[in-house]
Amino acid sequence: MNQYIELAEKYSPNNYSPLNIVLTEGKGAHVKDSEGNIYIDCVSGFSVLNQGHAHPKIIQAFLEQSQKITMTSRALYSDNLGVWEEKICQLAHKDKVLPMNTGTEAVETAIKIATKWAQDVKGIDAFNAEIIAMEGNFHGRTIGSLSLSSNDQYKEGFGELAGNIKYSEFGNIESLKSNITSNTAAIILEPIQGEGGINIPPQNFIKNVKALCEEHNILLIADEIQVGLGRTGKLFAMEWEDIEPDVYLLGKALGGGLYPISAVIANDDIMQVLTPGTHGSTFGGNPLACAVSIAALDVLIEEKLPEQSRILGDKLLKGLKGIHSHIIKEVRGRGLFIGIELNKEAQDIVSEINAQGVLCKETQGNIIRLAPPLVIDEEDIDKIIEVIKQGIESHSL
Ligand SMILES: *Cc1c(COP(=O)(O)O)cnc(C)c1O
Repeated sequence: MNQYIELAEKYSPNNYSPLNIVLTEGKGAHVKDSEGNIYIDCVSGFSVLNQGHAHPKIIQAFLEQSQKITMTSRALYSDNLGVWEEKICQLAHKDKVLPMNTGTEAVETAIKIATKWAQDVKGIDAFNAEIIAMEGNFHGRTIGSLSLSSNDQYKEGFGELAGNIKYSEFGNIESLKSNITSNTAAIILEPIQGEGGINIPPQNFIKNVKALCEEHNILLIADEIQVGLGRTGKLFAMEWEDIEPDVYLLGKALGGGLYPISAVIANDDIMQVLTPGTHGSTFGGNPLACAVSIAALDVLIEEKLPEQSRILGDKLLKGLKGIHSHIIKEVRGRGLFIGIELNKEAQDIVSEINAQGVLCKETQGNIIRLAPPLVIDEEDIDKIIEVIKQGIESHSL
């Protein structure tokens, strides 16, 4: 076994089952392993690397800021916190943004805000406030976010989680309606489910959810941590149905692949439930995170990465749909966010595709997830199609 893998295996707990590949370098859409093999990266750190590996502009921002000041805590201001906040609020058309660090913390924050909003604004006892989540969701692994999970395997053995969560079938508005009560505070959903298997809801589902939320005065929280920031061919995946949620959650690519930063974005009428002392984070919104995120957002906009994702995603989807095999159940996706659902386990095919220079991994056992950096070029798209075609055909016998 590779020495790096051996060392990591010796000291890592057993909660992951990584591919047997050791990455040592990355540039744009490409990565190199410890044996010198080059791959097209279709994992992208799970959509963290929308701007590509080692983007020069993002590295530059990181280096410059790291020599000025990196940490202030929120006990003080920095000279770039407001700059970052204005940028993100303008992109999201919202009044306020609260920076956190990881995706799951943004989700936790949203749960807190929704619960307190239910109490302060709707007059629901906070202990009774209910949140509706979707079956097959993924919102993170800490206790609050994990409470939203409908996957018992994720929750088993971790004791009592946060309460009052109801589950609706993703894409089924009737199922959602039947869960609404006078205690419902919020509905949280991923506009397209990522971990769940690149699940795209039926047309108008999001619109209907929004209408229900308005009718019953319920907050709509869009977890765009994986699908936001250009991944699906729009800046926000909610735009596919022209809907603005009450709360956006961002993470992953918000830090340009260089530094963790997440965000909770909403209007004043919601954010006002947070008063001094009700929430905070030591690292949240630190100057280094803000500098990197400003550059990451600038790159997204200047290089028109959402549009790039749409155009190249269409090409990739079309190419993959052209592969005819009885082992393919469905190919689906939006932008450069594509799932190939097989009617058998995907692991062997994934290994072969990896060996041919396209890095990808399966989700849910039988779905190959493709999410390359949005800076990828057409030539690489053609190569991905070719490699996957060969991989699938050789396993179709
Ligand atoms: C990755 C992810 C999270 C959790 O983000 P972390 O940074 O891993 O905590 C939450 N929601 C969605 C939709 C995600 O894809």
